[in-house]
Amino acid sequence: MSMREMIESKIGKDLANASNEEIYTGLLYIVKDMARDKQSTEGKKKLYYVSAEFLIGKLLSNNLINLGIYDEVKNTLAESGKNIAEIEEIENEPSLGNGGLGRLAACFLDSLATLGLNGDGVGLCYHFGLFRQKFENNLQNEVPDRWLTENSWLNRTDKTYKVSFGGFDVTSRMYDIDVVGYNNRTNKLHLFDIESVDENLVEGGGIGFNKEDIAKNLTLFLYPDDSDDKGRILRVYQQYFMVTNAACLILDEAVEKGSNLHDLSDYVAVQINDTHPSMIIPELIRQLQIRGILIDEAIEIVSKVCAYTNHTILAEALEKWPEDFLIKAVPELMPIIRELDNKVKEKVDDESTYIIKDGLVHMAHMDIHYGYSINGVAYLHTEILKATELNNFYKLYPEKFNNKTNGITFRRWLMECNPKLSELITSLIGEGWKKDANELEKLGAFVDDEEVLNKFLAVKHENKIVLKDYLKKEQDIDIDTHSIIDIQVKRLHEYKRQQMNVLYVIHKYFEIKEGKRPGRPITVIFGAKAAPAYIIAKDIIHLILCLSEIVNNDPEVSPYLKVVMVENYNVTLAEKLIPACDISEQISLASKEASGTGNMKFMLNGAVTLGTMDGANVEIAELVGDENIFTFGEDSQTVIDRYKRGNYSSRKYYEEDELLKRAVDFIMSDKVLAVGCRENLERLYNELLGKDYFMTFPDFREYVKTRDAAYLAFEDRIAWAKKMLVNISKAGFFSSDRTIEQYNKDIWRL
Ligand SMILES: *Cc1c(COP(=O)(O)O)cnc(C)c1O
Repeated sequence: MSMREMIESKIGKDLANASNEEIYTGLLYIVKDMARDKQSTEGKKKLYYVSAEFLIGKLLSNNLINLGIYDEVKNTLAESGKNIAEIEEIENEPSLGNGGLGRLAACFLDSLATLGLNGDGVGLCYHFGLFRQKFENNLQNEVPDRWLTENSWLNRTDKTYKVSFGGFDVTSRMYDIDVVGYNNRTNKLHLFDIESVDENLVEGGGIGFNKEDIAKNLTLFLYPDDSDDKGRILRVYQQYFMVTNAACLILDEAVEKGSNLHDLSDYVAVQINDTHPSMIIPELIRQLQIRGILIDEAIEIVSKVCAYTNHTILAEALEKWPEDFLIKAVPELMPIIRELDNKVKEKVDDESTYIIKDGLVHMAHMDIHYGYSINGVAYLHTEILKATELNNFYKLYPEKFNNKTNGITFRRWLMECNPKLSELITSLIGEGWKKDANELEKLGAFVDDEEVLNKFLAVKHENKIVLKDYLKKEQDIDIDTHSIIDIQVKRLHEYKRQQMNVLYVIHKYFEIKEGKRPGRPITVIFGAKAAPAYIIAKDIIHLILCLSEIVNNDPEVSPYLKVVMVENYNVTLAEKLIPACDISEQISLASKEASGTGNMKFMLNGAVTLGTMDGANVEIAELVGDENIFTFGEDSQTVIDRYKRGNYSSRKYYEEDELLKRAVDFIMSDKVLAVGCRENLERLYNELLGKDYFMTFPDFREYVKTRDAAYLAFEDRIAWAKKMLVNISKAGFFSSDRTIEQYNKDIWRL
């Protein structure tokens, strides 16, 4: 059957007469059929990647590419006057994640399937995801993200379990999404839901709901508001629901394959993605006990199965749950956790490593004592864990610690999102890079070839046009395709320092007002969601939106500077923004960004990094060399030492630096107050002057200098194209295929 016949028989009419919705649905079911017909990955041992988030993005194009039929479908549609890009837009982006950690999980699933490794994802099916961001009056509003429609990638399965909480039971059901590898086998993403979920609990257009009706609300939202105890305990219910289903599935499958459970580690590896799934350790122990294994042996078995990935050194992000919460929500786990803690206390003197302290259960501590591997996610991050944050654990278990620098899948983050660049690369070095990312190094041969370099510049320009059209159509935003496009897109967090970027923009605004105009217009793009209860983060969004209103409407400034805040930053937007970017802002406070993966996506698409020596930026800098990256700011050791001294005063920097003072004071100027809210602006102003916990002021001067230098360097177009080319050619290391091979070799051994 030809592709045309296949599609037309699925939708029951001629392509030419079909609507985009009908074609989308037809393709969805064709891909589902093809995925089902592919062989699923097999093997005695299986990895379960358990994660609260899977930020998978839209799947249609990705799956068509991985099945090797993207071009065929595209051309068939084009013959009937249909545009695949418009059909892609029908799909809702699944709202199953928040940021980097969830996107990493999605990249890992893609690489596992592509490498033919036997590994499935396990998580939850959130009906409304995190939230959809809407701007009103220059403020972030949150509304439910209703992504889950009738025709989705989910396949309902027959697997259901009874889950017991303190005082009541619920019934779970497993839904599967096929994970299609690139020209290879398929794995699965298992998402659990409750049968009794009630979407009507969410009322009034916002994301508020009755937090106590667990049997109805459990899977409505990812990361429900935890600013009160009701929200916090709901997160415990969610986490337990995730891991108890995972544990049931794991033991069922292992037994089915012939495990007698004593030999579970020959059949199973569990990767605990950050601390959200940590309760899988006591839960597996509990279920092994139910199946007749004594607790001491159960603990031993589980300790050979579970491995933990740490994603942060921010102390406030390491989860600690009050014992009372666990006693109420999951009473059967608490005795097991106490037993685990007692064993630690018998064996270890160091109180700082205890699992239970002052009535709080430290989830990461449980992972480290009872997991067989602890990994950080970039070289610097792992070194900091070993030397400072987790030093006491490192002294106990040096052999457990290892690094796995993050990666991204090049199928989505180059082949799919940047077809023009992919084509150019293939025309220069052939197709091999698609299977082996290290072959991108071959591009190095063209570093002095002006004709080739001009082609890279041309592709970048074409991608700016695509972005311009997209932003105009979707968000009514105008951008100048001849401007320098400077982008910071990532979750809004003070440690990522969007506020420092804003201060630069204010500084530039003043310079232009004074007649010091940049050689070429600059477009500064922000995209970020702030956690609904994170007040200062929302104040920073407010300032960006106010600034954008002021700058873009000022006839003296707007020809040279434009400030854009895209609404509802997600994977779909990332795929449009990144290919068009010139300068990638990676400006976290050194020591605070565990790895970053946005930095890798930008590099791969020919943006040049402007960044601090933090996370994987350190490895990017090492790979591309000083001439091909713009770095600035204090190093991680200086920052760590300053925290230790505890005597940082932002006011001192403010008073000694006129330009910084001018920028900070602008926040409370009449101009900004005229378009913004005094309460929000004043709070942010006071935060910066009174605390500035993530130390933007000490780095401000050098940031301005380095960013200006980058803009200047952009004007030597050929020299800039060389930087682009070197970045692309050195990006192979950041393929998640490499990361997954390392996890497999060192941790899972599938
Ligand atoms: C890659 C990605 C992230 C992570 O970005 P960082 O810059 O590493 O924080 C977050 N959100 C989306 C949608 C992404 O695609």
